This record gives sequence, structure tokens and C-alpha cells, in this order.
Amino acid sequence: MRAKKTATPALRHDWKENLRHVERNLDRMVATIRELVEIESPSDNKPAVDGIAQFLTAKFEALGGQTQFHRSADFGDSLQIDFPSPASDRKPVLLLGHYDTVYPLGTLAKMPCKIENGRLLGPGVLDMKSGIALILHAIEALQTGHGALPRPVTVFLVSDEEVGSRSSRKITEGLAKKSAGVLVLEPAAGLRGAVKTARKGVGEYTLRVQGIAAHAGLDPGKGHSAILELARQLQVIAKLNNLRSGMSVNPGVITGGTRSNVVAAEAQAVIDVRIKMAGQARSIDRKLHSLKPFDKHCKLQLSGGINRLPMERTSGVAALYKKAQAIAKDVNWKLEEAAVGGGSDGNFTAGMGIPTLDGLGGVGEGAHAIHEYIVISELPRRALLLAGLIENV
Ligand SMILES: [Zn+2]
Repeated sequence: MRAKKTATPALRHDWKENLRHVERNLDRMVATIRELVEIESPSDNKPAVDGIAQFLTAKFEALGGQTQFHRSADFGDSLQIDFPSPASDRKPVLLLGHYDTVYPLGTLAKMPCKIENGRLLGPGVLDMKSGIALILHAIEALQTGHGALPRPVTVFLVSDEEVGSRSSRKITEGLAKKSAGVLVLEPAAGLRGAVKTARKGVGEYTLRVQGIAAHAGLDPGKGHSAILELARQLQVIAKLNNLRSGMSVNPGVITGGTRSNVVAAEAQAVIDVRIKMAGQARSIDRKLHSLKPFDKHCKLQLSGGINRLPMERTSGVAALYKKAQAIAKDVNWKLEEAAVGGGSDGNFTAGMGIPTLDGLGGVGEGAHAIHEYIVISELPRRALLLAGLIENV
């Protein structure tokens, strides 16, 4: 027998058997994802989000998980599931996901969950109900392969990721602190299924302008238009874009005014901000706060801030990616990495210095869009990669 050097020795014996196990169970995994997609769970509908949490509780308990809810009055409850491993003295690994989606109730009627050309379509299928199903099936595969989990595992599924994770962030950070590493089941980057080793930081600001109303016909000179002032401010804000340094600002929503014949007394813009490095947070914040009105009769008021600092590719992140690559290589899979513009709860944990690997979920396209789908044939090796990482982090 020839001994081959590998970075994942613990996994080697079970590897092929694990793959067979998940392949044999592919139909069941697809069925699990369908069940989850067919329970609509928009972030802003607490009863709906709590409903899917309840459904998942039963699924995880069937695998021996110990479930507990973290209650929230304003958002859905978040669900923590612990899988102890009494025979192991290793630190737990933390698996992170979210069961809220961006789709309002009723979306399923126009965007039904269905299989077409090897793809599974539906609201939230990619972001990230397939990720939750991968957690369930990876844990099951490990239990089948080993008789028990090789180390303690904590799963934390949050209810409000799509709206900034305000109710769950502290809990995520507390659990991460106790863990050897964090695996985030957000969608993979692109159809090649790259994992995410860097993410931009994200912020949102609202700039309100208060002007002075007047009749546009009778008293045009008396008014001070909040809309005109806002338009001038937006020109300044647009100049803050610096794509080379990875910083971008996007006034994505503007509102203001009441009627065409009234000089507008109020206008506002909601501005999305992305940063590549933590240090840019303060600089963009300072620049936005130093905006001054062009029209002295108008007042500016800025609210908001940076919500998630960037997930930078630290040495801990790089080391996790290396482990993932080694696991993938065993099944001739050249696992790629990517840096992406969107933030996730992985930004929080990576920002604390906990090794974090993101984008371990489904492979597909169209997150948050009408054509959202995952590629079904990618699921087995994703489940296997997750199982291998749980074992080897
Ligand atoms: Zn997501």
C-alpha cells in the first residue's frame, strides 16, 4: 500500500464512502431544499420566519441536535443547534446560515419552486436555503460515516441576515469566539463554485435635506428646494467613488417633494456604501458627515453608518481555504476562491479574527432575482466539502 501525503488524513478512509452516501441521497437533499423554499420567510414577517425556524427545529432534532431559540421581539427568532461530541475534546466548529429571504409573501405564486434542466429554481433557493440543507445532509453523512460526529458542531441560523443581522449579531459573535473556525453557507461565487475568502464591508446612510416650501408659481423666489440641494449633494457624493481602492457609494433610492407646483421642502437619498479595507470605514464616514449645504437655507441631516466591516483575507482565512482545497483535491476538484462585494455574517466573525470561510453553500445564479436557481449536480460535492471541513477545521 502506498501512503499518500495529504492535508486531510482523518477524512481519507471515509471519503469515497461519504461521497457515495451523499450521491445516493441526492434526491432527499433536493426534497429538503424544496421543503425549505416552499415555506416563505421574508425577513420582515416575524410569523413567517418563526414558522420556518420551527420546521427546521424538527429536522435538526431528528439528527440529535439540541435546539434553542434566541427570541427577538422585532425580528424572527434565531435558532441555535448544538451537536455535542462527548468523545472529542476539540473546540466546536460554527456553521452559519440564515433562513430569512428578501422575497415578500406570495412570491412563490409567480416564482414557483421547480426543477428545470438540472436546476432547482425558487425564491431563496440559492440564498440560502440550499445552504441550510447542505448543513443537514453533511451532518447526516458524517454521522453515517463515523457513527457519530468527529467533533462538536454548533449551527446558528439567523432570522435577519438580509436586513443587517441586528438581532442576531451579538449571538453570532459570542458563538464564534468559542469556535475553532466559522463556515458560512452563503452561496458560492459564480458557477464555478468558488468559496469566498474576502468580502467587502457594507454600510447604509440616509441623507435628509430640509428646504423651504413655496408656491412654484406665485412665490418661486421664496422657496429653497430640498430637491435641488439634494441633487447637488449627490454630485459630491458620486465623487467619493474610488473603484481602484475598492470603495463605492450608490445613492440607490431618492425621494422628495410633494407636487410639481411646490418648491420641495424635503428630499432624501439612501446611499449604499462598500469598502474593501476596515480603515476605509472611518474615512468615508467622515467625508459624508462633512457635507455642507450649497444653499444656506437648506439643512442636511445624515444618519446610518457602516454595518459590516470587510472580511479581509487574513492568514486564518487563507489557512482554511487551503484545507478546503486539499479536501476538494481528493475528488479531483480544483476549488477556487473569490473576493466579492456583498457582505454576510462572515464579515462579523472574520472581523474578530476567527478563521472564517464563506460561500460554502449552493452553486447557482440570480440571488434576490426572479431567476434564482441552484445547479443540482453540484450538491453532493458541496455537502462533502462541508463534511470534510467540519472534521478538519
Ligand atoms: Zn445570504
